Amino acid sequence: MGENLPQGCKLCLKGSKMVLFVTGICGKGCFYCPLSGARKGKDVTYADEVPVKNDLEIILECKAIDAEGTGITGGDPLIKARRTLKYVKMLKKEFGCEHHIHLYTNGMYAERDLLKQLKDAGLDEIRFHPSREFWDRIAVAKELGMFAGAELPAMPGEEYKIKEFIEYLVKIEADFLNLNQLEFSPENALQLKQRGHSLEEGEMSAVRGSERTALSVIKWARTEGISLPIHYCPSYVKDSVQTKKRLLRRAKNVRRPYEEISVDGLVGKVLIRLPSINPRELRRKLHEYTGIPLYAIGVSEDGSSMEVHRKFLDCAKKFFKDATFEYVQSYPTFLREKFAVFPC
Ligand code: SF4
Repeated sequence: MGENLPQGCKLCLKGSKMVLFVTGICGKGCFYCPLSGARKGKDVTYADEVPVKNDLEIILECKAIDAEGTGITGGDPLIKARRTLKYVKMLKKEFGCEHHIHLYTNGMYAERDLLKQLKDAGLDEIRFHPSREFWDRIAVAKELGMFAGAELPAMPGEEYKIKEFIEYLVKIEADFLNLNQLEFSPENALQLKQRGHSLEEGEMSAVRGSERTALSVIKWARTEGISLPIHYCPSYVKDSVQTKKRLLRRAKNVRRPYEEISVDGLVGKVLIRLPSINPRELRRKLHEYTGIPLYAIGVSEDGSSMEVHRKFLDCAKKFFKDATFEYVQSYPTFLREKFAVFPC
């Protein structure tokens, strides 16, 4: 990352941007598209990982992470222009104009009239990922006075194409260019491999040569005296910085009283498995016998186990001689996916 980061990136690095996935539909079909099968080509909406069935869920997710802004993405959110405009207006109304909203689009549907409506609705920043035939849409956004830039993966071997694009962005006085490290995902792995790409040594997902491409382009731009702010976003920033910080923010707000938060933003608790006993009936007894506060004793969502804070493990073990005890760490997300289970 460099200096003069767009505000959307600054908040993203703090984990304080809610990701609003408006639709999985997109007319572009990039071979490296990382969208999962559950989202790609499907008209589904998610607020972070929460499947959205009504507008309130979007507001609640913003509150769950103390969001300072929203990044609107897809697919192409402009394919569902009315829905996207409604969300921009709703978020500004609910959280005020200081709630920073940026939007990603491939530009295909970014016609002047729609861009004007987005600007009037309060959109703060727009990022294009266009094919050459839609480059001029960025110029239109700039003419309308929008804060407009571009974002694309640093494709190994395509330095010359990126340089050409930079020259265009300079000509139209675009505000920034972000180059992302290209990554393998289960969805694009075959396509990338078929085109000769491989993993960067020692990396879990970064594509070999992508970082080198981004850095060499940035070096060239400096040598040429190009003033367009160009930033490089390595894949570890998304995983270890942005996602971790967002999890920490969410964990703080959604953890149950008997859950503790790890440094990585996971929530942990002791699970007590009781053969053929209804945990709901035993909750009060455990409280009365051991003195563990009621708020520190829960029942799992499926009703099959009891849950207590780790600091009461010894107490609970004295009370339940035949039970099985596990320490469970989960993501503090909507689905609360398990991360690890340790016998204890
Ligand atoms: S523009 Fe984005 S969402 Fe659409 S195909 Fe390309 S990478 Fe996927």
